[in-house]
Amino acid sequence: MTTIMIVEDEQAISLLLKYNLEKAGYDTICITHGNRVISAVEKNLPALILLDWMLPEISGLELCKIIRSNPELKNIPIIMLTAKGQEEDKVIGLSAGADDYVTKPFSIPELLARIKTNLRRVSTTTAPVKKEYTFKDIVLNTVEKKVFRGDNYIQVGPTEFRILKLLISNPRLVFSREDLLKEIWGNSVYVEPRTVDVHIRRLRKALNEYGADYIRTIRATGYSLDDHDTETKGTEL
Ligand code: CA
Repeated sequence: MTTIMIVEDEQAISLLLKYNLEKAGYDTICITHGNRVISAVEKNLPALILLDWMLPEISGLELCKIIRSNPELKNIPIIMLTAKGQEEDKVIGLSAGADDYVTKPFSIPELLARIKTNLRRVSTTTAPVKKEYTFKDIVLNTVEKKVFRGDNYIQVGPTEFRILKLLISNPRLVFSREDLLKEIWGNSVYVEPRTVDVHIRRLRKALNEYGADYIRTIRATGYSLDDHDTETKGTEL
């Protein structure tokens, strides 16, 4: 069950939100006092917070800043609810760390859509890191830092491993030499573009020992991992 925390001091609005969110399948926790918010967030770790701007004791804006400065809580999406509609208030709200901003009176369907969007964004950014990538019979395991083709263990160097990881996690996407230089070596060191070709050649040699060549060379463009188009295989740029 996805829990949404409603922080709102006006009971009519709080009840309206609670009713509609529960109807939409969410669990809710309603908080009316600003000074209870942080402890309640820490205790319940809601999936999302609807945060009223104008609260007695402590403003929604202050609460937003406190939540964002807490490493345990900072990734929880916050949608600010406010009667203020001016552009500058929106800017202040977003710069305090709110993810979204809804002005009262709001429409429930629009608010539900915003909630969904913000929940989806978090679920993709905090998704656990993938441990294993596969392309055809090629398997790259990021935990064991090993590459296999079928049952055969393929020994590759650390640079080849990183190149393969980039290619296999973005199948059929073409990376230019410059892309690879930036992604694998970073911008801080100067590496000859031809160095990329050397590592591609090593990677290709290691992989091809046990199967077809899936590293595609797109002349004057770059490299990709692809099982279509065989004519350019086996060559460097
Ligand atoms: Ca209020």
